[in-house]
Amino acid sequence: MSIAELARPEIRALAPYASARALADSAGILLNANENPWPPEGDGGLRLNRYPEPQPESLKRKLAAHYGVAVDSLLLTRGSDEGIDLLNRAFVRPGQDRVITCPPCFGMYALSARIQGAELIERPLREGNDGFDPDLEGLATDGPAKLLFLCSPNNPTGDGLSAETVLDLARRRADEGLVVIDEAYIEFSDRQSLAARVAQQPNLVVLRTLSKAFGLAGCRLGALIAHAEVVELLRRIIPPYPLPTPAIAAAEAALEPEAIAARREQIDLLMDDKRRVVQALESSPSIRHVWPGEANFVLVRAADGPALVRDAAAAGIRLRDQSAQPGLADCVRITLGTPEENTAFIEFLETRKA
Ligand code: PMP
Repeated sequence: MSIAELARPEIRALAPYASARALADSAGILLNANENPWPPEGDGGLRLNRYPEPQPESLKRKLAAHYGVAVDSLLLTRGSDEGIDLLNRAFVRPGQDRVITCPPCFGMYALSARIQGAELIERPLREGNDGFDPDLEGLATDGPAKLLFLCSPNNPTGDGLSAETVLDLARRRADEGLVVIDEAYIEFSDRQSLAARVAQQPNLVVLRTLSKAFGLAGCRLGALIAHAEVVELLRRIIPPYPLPTPAIAAAEAALEPEAIAARREQIDLLMDDKRRVVQALESSPSIRHVWPGEANFVLVRAADGPALVRDAAAAGIRLRDQSAQPGLADCVRITLGTPEENTAFIEFLETRKA
């Protein structure tokens, strides 16, 4: 079976919109896209009067090389948020198909599925001695689903998944749907990405983003890595010019070898300082439990989670309350900042009794 057969029939039958820039490159005299011929004041050579390349070749090649995948298995998106949305729109028939999430997890999986009219199956993670794990027996009995969303390291619990766990789930679900592994935080972890595995496992989709380790959240750039047939299907429904020129330029600069090396050093610094934050949390009377996890954040269970978030806000420090997530009453997620910001947080913590 071709993996494309799992997609909605109307998407498979769709002829994609052929934009001017998709039909011809931007060389020569450009009278084909109803653009203004003059760039704006202060353009700085970006040529913002012109539409950008729909899938900029140079950026795609660099990113594919960085992730160790084939160029035709990579789709550039406006953050991985857009990747999640595209998968739902291409594969889920409203009112008919199912999507499985494993909460507590990133909220956009469920929201995008609901917007698409999916039947949402929530198969909660199981809290063990040292973290949260997928309920593999539960997932085995959940039956067919067009999409299963997993995340490693997971937001907000920070736990990573082994390659075997993910690949095994993908193999078992090969005839019924895609297994999506969101690796937004993988650069902070010691684990290997599964990106290169999509070549052998056609129903595996890997989501990567430049928002976290690359420090480009403001650029809204993500990469969906999947079988070339899946990428081709998603290209049919992505808007004609999803990526703004300044975002493309910033990503190109961030992928220069020196820029990558500098980011690596920052990640090392961040993860070193994480020990100090974790230690402070573990010795704080207002914290009941600490899950250090593998990402650039820490999850804690506080004596009173909402009070911790409120008091921190009063001290000018924003934390993320996780109390509304299943199984996470009184839990708070703390993102690592610069060493100075972490010190400010630790000092705030020391002022609290419980
Ligand atoms: N996946 C996870 C697990 C996230 O935590 C986030 C953002 N918080 C995203 C995806 C979305 O990232 P992006 O900025 O690439 O849209």
